[in-house]
Amino acid sequence: MAGQAAQTVTATVASELALRIDALLPQTQCTRCGYPACLAYAEAIASGDADINQCPPGGAQGIRELAAALGRDEKPLNPANGVEKPAEIAVIDEEACIGCTKCIQVCPVDAIVGANKLMHTVLGEECNGCELCVPACPVDCIAMIVDAARPGAPHNARASHYRRRYEARNARLARERDEREAMIAARKAEVRDTTRNAVLDAIARARAKRARPNP
Ligand code: SF4
Ligand code: SF4
Repeated sequence: MAGQAAQTVTATVASELALRIDALLPQTQCTRCGYPACLAYAEAIASGDADINQCPPGGAQGIRELAAALGRDEKPLNPANGVEKPAEIAVIDEEACIGCTKCIQVCPVDAIVGANKLMHTVLGEECNGCELCVPACPVDCIAMIVDAARPGAPHNARASHYRRRYEARNARLARERDEREAMIAARKAEVRDTTRNAVLDAIARARAKRARPNP
């Protein structure tokens, strides 16, 4: 029982710690740290499963801040996770775009607009430079360019904005999934009711036939 209580306390502390660590990450959700999102990486650092030098967008400044917050030594960025670069944004070669929507599906901050079979465009203001759309494009028409609008900006200058957009996207995806599931359930119920009514009609017809006096 005491062990269970200690475990609960540890989980609570780890979760609070993870949130503090997450607040220092740039929120690009780029997965280069080896985790599916910034918060997942923060949780891994908090639990001791990941090191503090795995975030290329955070770079040296991010590592410095993590080291200071956690009372650890600074260390260079792990090259296995990538290299530190100036802030970039994605641009789409609109002539080459075939409108397949694959880039929209992977963009963590809904920074790409377009519709099926129509040309797509990156909203430069919203792109966080995560690069996830680049390998997703089947015709290789997305390139990363230096973001001229944010020269020398701190690594996490827009972190709160990106987090809000990421959470809004997750909420949208969850809402769409719920709507799809509700629609499928409604269709199934409709088919079930139609089948049931057809069976009841058939039974009623058979009974009526049996009840008719023989000529
Ligand atoms: S447009 Fe591409 S690089 Fe920019 S945030 Fe979206 S997926 Fe990442
Ligand atoms: S993945 Fe490439 S081809 Fe497909 S919509 Fe995006 S930019 Fe266009």
